[in-house]
Amino acid sequence: MEKLSNDELAQRCRALEENLKRIRAEIAEAAVRSGRKPEDITLLAATKTVPVEVINHGIELGLDHIGENRVQELCDKYDALEREKTDVQFIGHLQTNKVKYLIGKVSMIQSVDSMKLAQEISRLSVREHQTMDVLVEVNIGREENKSGVLPEQLSGLLEEISSLPALRVRGLMAIPPADADDVATQHYFSKMFEYFIDTKHKKLDNVSMDVLSMGMSADYVQAILAGANMVRVGSALFGARNYTNL
Ligand SMILES: *Cc1c(COP(=O)(O)O)cnc(C)c1O
Repeated sequence: MEKLSNDELAQRCRALEENLKRIRAEIAEAAVRSGRKPEDITLLAATKTVPVEVINHGIELGLDHIGENRVQELCDKYDALEREKTDVQFIGHLQTNKVKYLIGKVSMIQSVDSMKLAQEISRLSVREHQTMDVLVEVNIGREENKSGVLPEQLSGLLEEISSLPALRVRGLMAIPPADADDVATQHYFSKMFEYFIDTKHKKLDNVSMDVLSMGMSADYVQAILAGANMVRVGSALFGARNYTNL
């Protein structure tokens, strides 16, 4: 992990304070514009590559949901995080053989995209006498090297998952293609909102559909206007990522 000098740390914490203030104001405005209340929208801080000292400062400032996207990095940071004041989620691609490292650590896994993965989460949660909240990730842009279930496979997967014990599907997650323009992104977000509402109406067992997680630094306002109630924001909060010292 990046080791920061005191000056660098102070500087990054100051920048974070300003960014957080601005982002919260924008989220509140987008919430109201889309007929909701600011508190209806959950801001999840995407903390990959961010040093723990900076994350903990964010937690002090009220970041009460954080998400890591690599198992190893999450485990490395876990003990040093101020976990009494935040909840830790997993938002990245997850291999079945790594599920065991997350049970008991994270409150939600946002990236379930196969029955095999869901079964392993269910199996280990049963064993630990826990229930795991998950989101099903949709590959909304049908990108070849992206995780997520294809839209036409979503309802089948949800029906299968709904039979599993110790697992609760709380909603959907998506990452539209990074190179999509505003119009295309809008289309993807609207499609996701449609799937979200359609699934909600089906009232499947163990599927509550109350979280629609979409929107990142470049498009969280747009995502909220399209119906998201959770946005995952990294670089707009913490600054550009530095991968060199990981
Ligand atoms: C990194 C990451 C984000 C945040 O990306 P930014 O563009 O930096 O806001 C959101 N979701 C997932 C799954 C990520 O891995």
